[in-house]
Amino acid sequence: MCPETKWVTSAVVAVGEELLSGETTDTNGPWLGRKLALMGAPVVRRWVVGDDSEAIQAAVSEALAVADLVVVTGGLGPTSDDLTRPAVAEFLGLDLRADPQIVEELRTRFRARGFTESPESNLSQAVVPRGARVLKNSFGTAPGLLMEHEGHSIALLPGVPREMRGIFEEVLDQAIRDGFGDRLVPLVHRTLHTTGIAESLLGEQVGDVRAEIPPEVELAFLPGLRGVSIRISTRVRADRVQKSLDEAQAVLEPVLAPYRIGMETGDLLKAIAELLERGSLTLAIAESCTGGLISKRITDFPGSSTFFRGGVIAYADQVKTQLLGVDERVLAESGAVSETVAIQMARGVADRLNSDIGVGITGIAGPGGGTFEKPVGTVSFAVTEGARVRVSQKMFGGDREAVRERASQATLLLLYQMLADEN
Ligand code: AMP
Ligand code: MG
Repeated sequence: MCPETKWVTSAVVAVGEELLSGETTDTNGPWLGRKLALMGAPVVRRWVVGDDSEAIQAAVSEALAVADLVVVTGGLGPTSDDLTRPAVAEFLGLDLRADPQIVEELRTRFRARGFTESPESNLSQAVVPRGARVLKNSFGTAPGLLMEHEGHSIALLPGVPREMRGIFEEVLDQAIRDGFGDRLVPLVHRTLHTTGIAESLLGEQVGDVRAEIPPEVELAFLPGLRGVSIRISTRVRADRVQKSLDEAQAVLEPVLAPYRIGMETGDLLKAIAELLERGSLTLAIAESCTGGLISKRITDFPGSSTFFRGGVIAYADQVKTQLLGVDERVLAESGAVSETVAIQMARGVADRLNSDIGVGITGIAGPGGGTFEKPVGTVSFAVTEGARVRVSQKMFGGDREAVRERASQATLLLLYQMLADEN
């Protein structure tokens, strides 16, 4: 048998009417997802159910069918809508009994707060299924519970995030490690960032080499407005992880190389900054449709003051002509969204701000303003350095935000390419 099939899987059941109605967002599920993935017991499915015994039992039953470890959160409180404990006990055929130690702890807790009697309702939290291990709650009154059932483990944790996390970190984490031992194998990821290629095209090109990638490595395409990342993941023993991922990366690199430029860290800015610093070059930017977005991204980069002179948001034609020296005739003949205007904006801003390199960008971000020749999404952008010029005109898809974000990334890519060619 393939050893992989013995590796631990988890499932999470989040209980609470407020989670279904949307008053509360289930944050316990994602938190447990991350924790369990890291420890090597990834969550394979998750349920959200109301405070309803039948629904809780149905979810636990389905969860047991797909997972070795089932974590249920919520519904452990002292009120009548807290049904998780009896519902799960009944489903597993376990009687409930008061745990003398919990009763004593609850009494001590209440006495310490000045009450002589513990409320009866709180004592319901001391009732535990026979055979269950009690998991200490340092942050509240409802303890967690851990039960074994036909080779599966079932943990019940309170819904209050602080208490749920506290019990998990202080006790359950170790209990899971002790219980499953070397069957816990984490999924390890590596991310390869690309920019300047559409997800579908990248998918086709990667598809051509898929067969050469080791079968234990999974691929996921993660598209964003600044590029598409490919995540390679594997769930193998620790001593084989790096080898598997290295092999997969070696197959992918040649395919990705044209789109990987400067994207080792996923941020083009770092690569641009390095090239500018290496060449002791300065940069100035004239932005129309991106309204300062590119300047923002540049100044987000710590240390950008060493190369960034500044930017002009040249939105109105008058600003383009008066401040940047764009030719009025060119504006009238070619329109504000044209390669010539982008070049003149780049030259103008470099000249006015006394910079080696100029960048100009002008386009139609939408939703209005498009024409038949220049539909919404049309963007012209240029990079100049003295007599050298790189210019491009592209049609970007998506809404206003997407067009602006994509246009800023494409402009930075053009800037990077011009700088890289120089070196
Ligand atoms: P309970 O343990 O069901 O009494 O839950 C107590 C409180 O914890 C609820 O009022 C919710 O605000 C919060 N809570 C319960 N479940 C979750 C969850 N899955 N994610 C985030 N908060 C939760
Ligand atoms: Mg609840």
